[in-house]
Amino acid sequence: MEPPAYLVLLYYLYVDIEEPEDYRDQQKALCDELDLRGRIIVAREGINGTVSGERNSCETYIQAMHADPRTAAMTFKIDEVEDHVFPKLSVKARAEIVTLGLQADDFSPTETTGRHLSPGEWKAAMDDPDAVILDARNDYEFDLGHFKNAIRPDIGNFKELPTWINDHRSELEGKKILTYCTGGIRCEKFSGYLVREGFRDVSQLLGGIVEYGKDEEVRGENYDGECYVFDQRIGVPINHVNATIVSSCRHCGQKSSRYINCAYPPCNAQHFCCVACEETSQRYCGEACRVSADQAESKADTKSGDPG
Ligand SMILES: [Zn+2]
Ligand SMILES: [Zn+2]
Repeated sequence: MEPPAYLVLLYYLYVDIEEPEDYRDQQKALCDELDLRGRIIVAREGINGTVSGERNSCETYIQAMHADPRTAAMTFKIDEVEDHVFPKLSVKARAEIVTLGLQADDFSPTETTGRHLSPGEWKAAMDDPDAVILDARNDYEFDLGHFKNAIRPDIGNFKELPTWINDHRSELEGKKILTYCTGGIRCEKFSGYLVREGFRDVSQLLGGIVEYGKDEEVRGENYDGECYVFDQRIGVPINHVNATIVSSCRHCGQKSSRYINCAYPPCNAQHFCCVACEETSQRYCGEACRVSADQAESKADTKSGDPG
């Protein structure tokens, strides 16, 4: 059987980019030429991207990045897929490649960051009774899947983490803090933030959940559920040892990892919905949205029926 024809690349690097706008234009030209689609953010502090494309095109892109002295050290996490997982390409120059919103207090993870743990070291560290496993992602990402015994900061955006830390300082003080995210980039910054806040024992999972799932030794063990990804796949499997499902259908309560968006556009809430309930719920997240959508529709009907 032929291997899947497309690849998804996930990558970041903290490195000095002197002219982010020029670099953005170069990246855009390169990706357009190769028909890569996805999201790339460049800043003076580095590059953060995830793109999909044909296997050969992705390989050419990786070679081009490795031939550039600035990004020669880039690590790519690679998934095989049947087709593009992004509808289009977006390349932006921003102030930061991930936004923790520290403004004047901002710093570079190349100067301050937590200790990096390999997947094997991470798995062992999780067993330490003094360890606190802190998920650095958003609530809806956690809800699809997370490490066993991890703490879920109830935040909808990475920028809210510093406030959350302030409110939960006493639970974390004196503990071995283990922090993780999807591919590792958010933790570069977040673990550095924790170090600067005075926490002494801060570690981060190198390569994030994605690499933990690919590692041949740990094979995703003790990660529950799927890993949320910001493309059309939404969730990807990680655990090849003791996999479970941690989420359940909003309507019937059956275990389900299917995230869909509410059919009522002003709501659009992402919610878990099993195959059977998709039809009966008409993709509405609940009764209130169904009623609102019906009312909006009957209003529109009345309007279009008006003479003149
Ligand atoms: Zn259901
Ligand atoms: Zn809704």
